[in-house]
Amino acid sequence: MHKLRATEVRERSALSKQLRLDVAQLTDVGRKRPHNEDNMAYVIPKDPQIMARKGALFIVADGMGGHAAGEVASEIAVDTVSKMYYQDDGDDVAVSLLHAIKHANALIHQRAAENMMRSGMGTTCVAAVLRGNMAYIANVGDSRAYLVRDGQVKQVSQDHSWVAEQVRAGLLTEDQARTHAQRNVITRCLGTQADEQIDVLHEPIEENDALVLCTDGLSGLVTDDEIRRIVNQSGPQESVYHLVERANENGGTDNITAIVVSVQEVGAEPPNVRRTAYV
Ligand code: CA
Repeated sequence: MHKLRATEVRERSALSKQLRLDVAQLTDVGRKRPHNEDNMAYVIPKDPQIMARKGALFIVADGMGGHAAGEVASEIAVDTVSKMYYQDDGDDVAVSLLHAIKHANALIHQRAAENMMRSGMGTTCVAAVLRGNMAYIANVGDSRAYLVRDGQVKQVSQDHSWVAEQVRAGLLTEDQARTHAQRNVITRCLGTQADEQIDVLHEPIEENDALVLCTDGLSGLVTDDEIRRIVNQSGPQESVYHLVERANENGGTDNITAIVVSVQEVGAEPPNVRRTAYV
């Protein structure tokens, strides 16, 4: 087994009166790249009032740019969005999330302009806020959000990539896109423009749903069906481990990052996890 250089955490929290979140996140450099330019984070407020008003935030970012700039861009995105989202007093989740991501974009753009070594740095960003029975998803770039429900998987974010545009136009199939030479070309990202268009959508959530946020180092090497199968089989902690392991088995050509959030009814048995396997 390829040795994981990774961080991992697990927490639970009351999402609303009825729902509880189980969360795990994992990032791995993969087998080919010298550095890990992905970043991830989540925030589950301990204060029930903040949780009720702002919800829990999950975010994954995939940085790009030479001389360690990629990891700087993705770190700024994750840190800025996590902080700014909760600093915003408004209770419109979509608006707060959009403002936080716009702020991150401006900050990365400014840092890139200040330092020639970081010129052109950028990052994808996919973020989800779970509040009450609703998930709010914001996306820029080709990192992804999936919803796994009733044994089915659905990509809820839309890729901002050249190949995805070709697929949407009917000029490439999904399979062709997966192996296309231009599959890494993204059409939107944070940091390279003073302003950037960001998708924000919402999706009702139910108990037993699982939300997966990941970078293309996972979704490019592990099929949607494999993601569905892995997430259906076990709780978040085992799922993130197996998702990363499978991407490495399939080549590990890129950095691999996944957050899995499972939504459970309060009072339901937590998923069967081998906690000791992860320490
Ligand atoms: Ca990547």
